[in-house]
Amino acid sequence: MLEGALRAEMRGALLTWVALSAGYLARDLWASGRYDLPFYADSVTFRMGIIGIVAATTGSLFRRLRRSAESLERRLAEVSVLRQVAVAARRMTSLDEDVIAAEIHAAAVNLGFHRAGLSLADGPTTTEVHKLVHVTAPCPGGDASLHAWHDGPVPADRQEALELLAAQIGAVLVNARRYTERQQFEEALRAAALHDALTGLANRSLLADRATQALAAAERSGRPVAVLLLDLDRFKEVNDTFGHGYGDTLLIQVAIRLGSVLRGSDTAARLGGDEFAVLAVDLADPTDARRTAERIVAALQEPFSVHGVLLDVEASIGVAIGGAHGHDIDTLLRCADIAMYAAKRAGTTVEEYDAALDDHTPQRVALLGDLRRATEVDDQLHLHYQPKYAMDDGRLMGVEALLRWDHPTRGAVSPADFIPVAEGTSLIHTVTAWVLSHAVDQAAQWKAAGRPVQVAVNLSARCLLDQGLPADVAALLEQSGLEPHLLRLEITESAVIADPARATNVLAQLETLGVPLSLDDFGTGYSSMSYLQRLPVDELKIDRSFVTHLGSAGTDSALVRAVIELAHSIGLTVVAEGVETEAALTLLRDLGCDIAQGFYLAMPVAPTELVIGPSLTAAPRPPVAPTTGRRPAPR
Ligand code: C2E
Ligand code: CA
Ligand code: CA
Repeated sequence: MLEGALRAEMRGALLTWVALSAGYLARDLWASGRYDLPFYADSVTFRMGIIGIVAATTGSLFRRLRRSAESLERRLAEVSVLRQVAVAARRMTSLDEDVIAAEIHAAAVNLGFHRAGLSLADGPTTTEVHKLVHVTAPCPGGDASLHAWHDGPVPADRQEALELLAAQIGAVLVNARRYTERQQFEEALRAAALHDALTGLANRSLLADRATQALAAAERSGRPVAVLLLDLDRFKEVNDTFGHGYGDTLLIQVAIRLGSVLRGSDTAARLGGDEFAVLAVDLADPTDARRTAERIVAALQEPFSVHGVLLDVEASIGVAIGGAHGHDIDTLLRCADIAMYAAKRAGTTVEEYDAALDDHTPQRVALLGDLRRATEVDDQLHLHYQPKYAMDDGRLMGVEALLRWDHPTRGAVSPADFIPVAEGTSLIHTVTAWVLSHAVDQAAQWKAAGRPVQVAVNLSARCLLDQGLPADVAALLEQSGLEPHLLRLEITESAVIADPARATNVLAQLETLGVPLSLDDFGTGYSSMSYLQRLPVDELKIDRSFVTHLGSAGTDSALVRAVIELAHSIGLTVVAEGVETEAALTLLRDLGCDIAQGFYLAMPVAPTELVIGPSLTAAPRPPVAPTTGRRPAPR
């Protein structure tokens, strides 16, 4: 419009110049006839020149004016396009696909297109369909193209505007994708924090969360909740025989079966390793919990097919009832744990918690707290050492480390009183670690002093199920530089019976380290000879209850004789513990017993008091009255 006006004015200027010039020429021609010609001719030339200069200057001025007016118009158009694109982009903040599509359409219509939409990426194209021209522009980074239809050929500026809009849409799509990815990532993080990565079951913290809610709900509704703790009995075997891949697949399948027998409102969790827990809610009555446990046992009975191998898995389940056995998840899990171990020990598969199984009366809880502190200070726990002598020549075969506790207010507390309490909790691991490190230290000192003595350490049943024990022992030997044969570990049958697969695995690893093993308290437990043959022990200790009264009137030595013969037949060394009299010692020698240990020969004493040398004569201090061993040892 502006350009048109300018052009018209240019034409006007030219016409004016021609008209004016012609006017002057005519007047001068007329005048030249009457006056002196040369003077007037000069004047005409001069005037026409002036007019020409003025016209030319005006023309270039007009041209310049026209150019800046054109660029102004272009800028205004660009600004308007940019504004439209910006408005469209701003309105595309919603991540809803329909909203974005509507905004794209509206923006394209504003830019003069017929309609527009998005499609998956392809390059820019232009096709004419009937009268509509179809153009596309790629949305960079967005993996999409903007399609628009225009009535007739698309002017360059509209094409440019469309590309600009496509670029904006690309940015919106990239942002949307990043946002979605971040949301998915955060969701995955949140899920991982509450679920076990392998099985997808709840983890301990989700279980705790659900239990807290369920316990509160149970209090209102009066419908009880139960916590079931489940431990696979043969899992370790699978892992060791077939490898972790099989173990993992088995755990996943167990998780699936577990889920299949639970109600939707129940929660199955994996607490780690082969330990699972179930929170059963909204039970009709507490006996329902046992039924749930039995359903789980039944579900696990069918063998599992893992990578073409059929595997049998047995589980032990401990049951604890909310309210009756505890009001928080930690207490309930602890009770279920006690019940589960009882089930394992008794081989009954399912056990409900019973206070009789539990050593956790308030006095015992206080004792546990004191014992934990005792492991942290350095003047309450000590080790005493009791020698073992060879029957034939009386040489010192080794010593047994026995724990002593000087309680700050109660005085000496017998290990027979506090070890079983500690065994009910994880504190036994702390205590065992304390004993092991001090015993290994002492053995290393004796060795350094040129008097190497083998030191035997007692292991609790629970320690034998601790897969980390062999590594701990290896580390202690490494640190102290002690040869493995100068350490010995005493285990009991009941520890092995509790979980044979796991226990034998730990024992095999200890054997590989070169640490010799003894079977302690033989005769009090299952005394299964078939187990005996399979265990990597080289020494058997006959329990003192069979030994102490040997040689006195009315006691039968037949059993001890049979045990010694049997042990010898499978190559085991036999130790008689609790030798209190000369008569017992003599009889044991006649029966072919290899080693003797007992008050008659030597009391357990502090390391400084230990006489390292041969002896088969009565100890300087006479033995006190015969005991069952459940009393404090003489100090
Ligand atoms: P144990 O392993 O059978 O240890 C031998 C026990 O018999 C010791 O009792 C010892 O003092 C006692 N004893 C030794 N000679 C005779 C004897 O001639 N007659 C009688 N009647 N008893 C004798 P202590 O030290 O009271 O230990 C009792 C139990 O406590 C041990 O029985 C062992 O099971 C456990 N214990 C002791 N120290 C530790 C330890 O460091 N770790 C673990 N896990 N248990 C330990
Ligand atoms: Ca022992
Ligand atoms: Ca013993």
